[in-house]
Amino acid sequence: MQARDRIGTELEEARQQLAALTGEVARNHDKMRRSQQRELRLLQADDMQSLFRELVGGLRASYGLQYVSLVLCDPDHDIRHLLLAGSPGVPDIEGVLFVESISGLSPQYVALQEPWLGPYAACDHQLVFPLATGLQSVAMIPLLHRRRLIGSLNFGSSDARRFTRQHATDFLQHLGVIASYCVENVVNRARLLRSGFTDVLTGWHNRRYLHVRLTEELARASREQSNLVCLMLDIDRFKSVNDSWGHAAGDVVLRELANRIETQVRRSDVAARLGGEEFVVLLPATSTADGVRLAERIRTSISATPIDLPNGDHLTVTASIGIAGTTPERQAKDLKTMGDSLLARADVVLYRAKAEGRDRVAVDSAT
Ligand code: GH3
Ligand code: MG
Ligand code: MG
Repeated sequence: MQARDRIGTELEEARQQLAALTGEVARNHDKMRRSQQRELRLLQADDMQSLFRELVGGLRASYGLQYVSLVLCDPDHDIRHLLLAGSPGVPDIEGVLFVESISGLSPQYVALQEPWLGPYAACDHQLVFPLATGLQSVAMIPLLHRRRLIGSLNFGSSDARRFTRQHATDFLQHLGVIASYCVENVVNRARLLRSGFTDVLTGWHNRRYLHVRLTEELARASREQSNLVCLMLDIDRFKSVNDSWGHAAGDVVLRELANRIETQVRRSDVAARLGGEEFVVLLPATSTADGVRLAERIRTSISATPIDLPNGDHLTVTASIGIAGTTPERQAKDLKTMGDSLLARADVVLYRAKAEGRDRVAVDSAT
């Protein structure tokens, strides 16, 4: 009887152990599955904004943390410029901090090659977790590129036991490797995309970029019921500049012209080199009269001062400008065709300016 009781108890204990083990396996399996899903979401984010949102908001929700921040080293403002990508201001992505130099932000950065886990201390961590309140423990995960620190992913918890020095860090280290890879990847993608939109000679945007922005600006003009003005500029008798002074001198003239146009336009205007010696400036929310005034300013800024050529000579060039404008209907649909037609109208009047004697501004009559 006693023996049977003992066997019964042992059996019961074994059953309980098995249940506990099975539960743990299931929990681990669940953890693994969720962590794979998180990684997949990071790897699938194919632009900077969605990756940054996934790293900050996504991980915060997924781990149930009080605070997540992403610090990125951006000494040349390169990443911020890529984020700008034509919009008038760097989008403010919550929890993302760009810094010129990372080491001054927190003492932990001095040798951060592996995740640092420990108690929150305002003096050490408040710059990394700005605006955070009630944090008790933190994890700072380094983002490394070829062992060089490019930033960090920072987790903050109101639970003092959530991140301690006793915790294993291999899992967070793994996450850091994935996050570093994803950051490098989206930044490189953005660079590649921008290079496809950039004119090598002038550093201006090119025709491809202009077409993308033209459609966007027409959509905005339609939404806001505002007028979009298009200036098309072509250098007069540029072929003879190349013929008389050489191709390199022609390139100098093109670059100088781009500079002079640039000094006249606003940041919100869209300037692009259409190709050859033709430039386009889109002026959002601008009346035709203001467009004409700007075109005259550009025209005189070109003709008023001779351009210094590499051989020491000075050359005065002139340019002709065609202007067309449009206020699209509120429900305008085919923006691509509308854009092509706006450029074509500006082109037609540009050639009228040429025919009438060059070094002048002409306006499309329907504008
Ligand atoms: P018009 O007053 O009628 O505009 O005369 P134009 O000579 O400026 O017109 P045309 O379009 O015949 O000539 C444009 C010239 O621009 C021809 C081409 O060799 C030159 N060109 C185009 N792209 C470049 C460039 O990147 N660098 C240099 N140096 N020249 C270029
Ligand atoms: Mg031309
Ligand atoms: Mg020309």
